[in-house]
Amino acid sequence: MSSYPVRVYGDPVLKQAAREVDQVDGSLVRLVDNMVETMYDSEGAGLAAPQVGVQKRLFVYDVGEGPEVMINPSIVELDGEWYYDEGCLSIPGLRLGIVRPNRVHIRGYDLDGEEISIEADEFLGRVFQHEVDHLDGVLMLERLDDDMRRQALRVLRDRELGLDTSAMEAKLVSADAQPEV
Ligand code: ZN
Repeated sequence: MSSYPVRVYGDPVLKQAAREVDQVDGSLVRLVDNMVETMYDSEGAGLAAPQVGVQKRLFVYDVGEGPEVMINPSIVELDGEWYYDEGCLSIPGLRLGIVRPNRVHIRGYDLDGEEISIEADEFLGRVFQHEVDHLDGVLMLERLDDDMRRQALRVLRDRELGLDTSAMEAKLVSADAQPEV
């Protein structure tokens, strides 16, 4: 197994929609293995294929029960509301307090081509929504309201300039470090 570099904010691949996987073969299995390795190396809880530059609709995740893969996922139902300080391996070190639906019903396929159907809430529900967004070319910044998004973009710009953004960042979240996805 080997680890890939994680694509970061500004890389155009993160803004493109990924294509459905039409076949599970040896190279797809190797891709999944390497994505799991990359996720662990980055200490993340989830990783979508576009984050390693591959435009396929699949992601891996591990919320403490071992690595899992979800191929061609689709969200069939969303319910409720939940606030969480979200992080993204492609926007390293930036936490954003984001409200999204709490409960998610997701369907997809595993590497054996078996259908998976999972209902999740809170953290796992958030991981699923975040990763499916990556497959649609959507970053968590786009889940903020206009005012918060302006502040988050300003943090990213000021960081590029080497400015201290800690005071501004503190306004974007409610709590300390959570795993990135
Ligand atoms: Zn992410």
